[in-house]
Amino acid sequence: MRKKVIAGNWKMNKVLSEAEKFVATTKDNIPTSDKVESVICAPFPYLAALVERAKGSDVKIAAQNMHYEANGAFTGEVSPVMLKDIGVTYVVIGHSERRELFAETDETVNKKVHAAFNNALTPIICVGETLEQRESNETMSVVELQVKKALEGLSDAQVHEVIIAYEPIWAIGTGKTASTEQANEVCTHIRGIVSEFVSSDAAEAVRIQYGGSVKPANVDELLSQSDIDGALVGGASLEADSFLKLVEAG
Ligand code: 13P
Repeated sequence: MRKKVIAGNWKMNKVLSEAEKFVATTKDNIPTSDKVESVICAPFPYLAALVERAKGSDVKIAAQNMHYEANGAFTGEVSPVMLKDIGVTYVVIGHSERRELFAETDETVNKKVHAAFNNALTPIICVGETLEQRESNETMSVVELQVKKALEGLSDAQVHEVIIAYEPIWAIGTGKTASTEQANEVCTHIRGIVSEFVSSDAAEAVRIQYGGSVKPANVDELLSQSDIDGALVGGASLEADSFLKLVEAG
């Protein structure tokens, strides 16, 4: 039985006081359950403070990105070693906003996934198609390539630990959720790719989230699908009440 994982991706939102208040509220009210894991993906400047705040609870703190090198002349970048050092345990890699706006490629995604494992960070790898790709029936091939490239060179055991977030770009921040059937169909396809290219054991273990306009009103239906093991949530994760409802559904 795969443990569900609900991750709130705040993106570039909140000031420190809001972030700390959110984590304090979440920590006090998070349901204790061995069926669901809750992760907050916060901006870099708040990570250290939030790791401290979340101590003693099941709330995990994630970065939204990182560089793949351990250190060096990379002005403005944050390394996996730094994240590990301050107690961060998860990292989002290859979010579509990073691919589209910051030139992230399948190659850099793969390097970052390896760097995450080298530093005891669990990667949440984002994949998903554009509206144009969906309309020209390329969804399955686009996602297949992204997944294969992202996982290239990982051991079977590492793939067991990976979290893959299927986020159709046309459903992000648009209010347009993929139908539960559309979402599950692609998540099933992703599991099949892992089975074919890694192993059936890894496919059974890997957790696949859906992301794109997930909210308390639609989360139950999405999570009831056979291959959806959680959600990566933007807008509806910004208020603690709403985030807690999502975790309760898990
Ligand atoms: P929304 O939930 O705001 O659509 O964002 C989804 C997302 O990009 C999470 O990473």
